[in-house]
Amino acid sequence: MKVHSRNADVLIVGGGLIGSAIAMGLAREGARSVTVVDLDLGGEWSSSELNAGGVRATWSQRVNLQASKSSIEYFGTLGDSIGYRDCGYLWLHRPETFESALKAREMQVREGWAVDVLDVEQIRNRCPFIDKTSDLAGALFGVKDGLVNPNRLKEHYRELAREAGVVFLDGVFVTSASRSTNWSVRAFQFRDTLKSEEKRRILEQNPTSAEAFEKEQGEWVEFTAKQVVNAAGAWAPKLAALLGYSCPSEPVRRQISLFHARDLDLTPYGMIIDPSGVYFHPESIYGLSGFATPGEGAGFNFHYDADAFFEEHIWPALYERSTAFESLRHVSGWAGLYENSPDHHAIVGPVEAAPGVFEAHSFSGHGAMQSYAVGLAVAEIMARGRYESLDFSELSGSRFKNGRPIASETWVI
Ligand SMILES: Cc1cc2nc3c(=O)[nH]c(=O)nc-3n(C[C@H](O)[C@H](O)[C@H](O)COP(=O)(O)OP(=O)(O)OC[C@H]3O[C@@H](n4cnc5c(N)ncnc54)[C@H](O)[C@@H]3O)c2cc1C
Repeated sequence: MKVHSRNADVLIVGGGLIGSAIAMGLAREGARSVTVVDLDLGGEWSSSELNAGGVRATWSQRVNLQASKSSIEYFGTLGDSIGYRDCGYLWLHRPETFESALKAREMQVREGWAVDVLDVEQIRNRCPFIDKTSDLAGALFGVKDGLVNPNRLKEHYRELAREAGVVFLDGVFVTSASRSTNWSVRAFQFRDTLKSEEKRRILEQNPTSAEAFEKEQGEWVEFTAKQVVNAAGAWAPKLAALLGYSCPSEPVRRQISLFHARDLDLTPYGMIIDPSGVYFHPESIYGLSGFATPGEGAGFNFHYDADAFFEEHIWPALYERSTAFESLRHVSGWAGLYENSPDHHAIVGPVEAAPGVFEAHSFSGHGAMQSYAVGLAVAEIMARGRYESLDFSELSGSRFKNGRPIASETWVI
């Protein structure tokens, strides 16, 4: 078997929002030789392509608030070029959650994030279509929270990285790794663009043996790198195993439906989070709505349950919120993967058990909104040996081994 060799100072595995943001951060740090590899840079099955595009700093844990806040402030400087709209996040609360939400708001406001408190009448004034409110105690409105176009944001990071010489390689699937002085990372590089179902099969099955690629057209590549970044999203535990360490996170399916409300124009509104856990926002002429199905098991499952999901979970919750939602048309939808760590916080930083390896993954539903801050911080720790813009030490993966857990995030959707 002929193996082609390539050298880089840094090899980033995974070119989604997180890998692309780290590439941008390294470019800013003046890194000269950075290569990003991905099975599919287009990201058809990546979480960066399949998410809801919400960005908010309304978190209960400071590290999440700060990571989102600095990222959203950056998105604000880019505005329309990345589809950022500061249309706000409206969190509707029943009495049982309102007190703790108000408590979290104290920290958010102290940290400089504007969050308005609304009573039921003010909710109705702001969103007149929300006319079924008898169960509500009030709402919080994150004024600068909003929406982005994740695809444009990813391309923005890549553009800045490419301008500084970062190389992005498409159709490259990493299958093994070993370390002596440097890391040797072996990957199969497909010759032709893969079809959608072929990409999905590889990402679902994660083949690592040479035999699995015998019938494929392409070549083996051996990358030699001083530093390797695990930015493989939902596949981070698989890549961690190849790099010789264990990662406690799990991929979990999340589904999104597009619907049409004949008598309601949602475009003046931002993200709205119902106490049922169903969230929705305008998406071109439609509404986009998502929900975390209770009891969803771990796995690489991209199947969208279509009408069954919409009719069982989305529509009943929306029906109970507005007469304008009593008649809705289910248009389409999709499923993507969250990557959940045991405490639902991201895992970021150097990997103690694998020298030269850095990781940034397990962002559950908040990787897009924190990507800029993460990109800068990971690049700092890699290039300078310390965090400067934002301290992510508490998100180190070693917290699960060293018994230094962080309080679970309560504002997760
Ligand atoms: C339904 C849904 C809704 C969401 N809503 C929001 C939201 O509103 N706001 C928000 O901020 N976040 C949201 N998220 C979360 C957000 O999308 C993710 O946190 C973020 O995209 C993670 O980016 P990533 O770069 O880590 O992973 P990904 O974008 O998944 O990228 C990982 C890449 O690694 C590649 N890869 C994996 N293994 C290998 C290998 N062995 N060799 C080569 N390449 C490999 C994959 O091909 C993939 O492209 C949502 C996610 C989902 C699924």
